[in-house]
Amino acid sequence: MDLDLGENWLIFGQIYGAEGTTSTSSIAVDLDKASWGRLWKLKLHDRLKMLLWQIAAGALKNKGALARVLGREEEESFLCSFCRQAPEDSIHLLVRCSVACIAWRESPWAFPMDALNLGSTEALIGTVLNVDRVLNISKGQLHAFALNAAIIFDCLWFLRNKIVHENVQVDTSLLILSIRRRYAEHAHAWLKVDGAVQVRWMPPKLG
Ligand SMILES: [Zn+2]
Repeated sequence: MDLDLGENWLIFGQIYGAEGTTSTSSIAVDLDKASWGRLWKLKLHDRLKMLLWQIAAGALKNKGALARVLGREEEESFLCSFCRQAPEDSIHLLVRCSVACIAWRESPWAFPMDALNLGSTEALIGTVLNVDRVLNISKGQLHAFALNAAIIFDCLWFLRNKIVHENVQVDTSLLILSIRRRYAEHAHAWLKVDGAVQVRWMPPKLG
């Protein structure tokens, strides 16, 4: 299961640099009717599908949305529930926060999601639903990638709510264990592929 993340990060950067994606150009993926069709067909629990839809629609009730309305994004009470270093919005919570980075890097796919310059929640979910087209991942691995992403989002959102409502502390070891266990359980139940938990992203060969 271990992956040499340092090497992957390097190769990932080279791939994206070579294809013209720079740190200043956001990935923009329109969520068209076909994308929603893909979401519906995913072999995921309906609750996870709904979560992906909520994220895409900007419907997660995080503190950043309220702060924006009030014009108080920099106030401490509206900062990220994990790190308290940035305004709490969905992209930060689920991709860019240091806790989210750990979740992604230690997940079964070990995918450096925060290296993508995602400009919106729609682009985030659009990327998850179109990884074969956007990230050069084979179409056959679409379900496994979406499963991995949905479980990470669900575990992060669950932990965030526990912090907000029950004042629990961030335990990244427990978070990682929970993501890996749930992926294995869902993969066994839904993917029905031998050794499905071994399915993960690998960078394509260069040259
Ligand atoms: Zn954070």
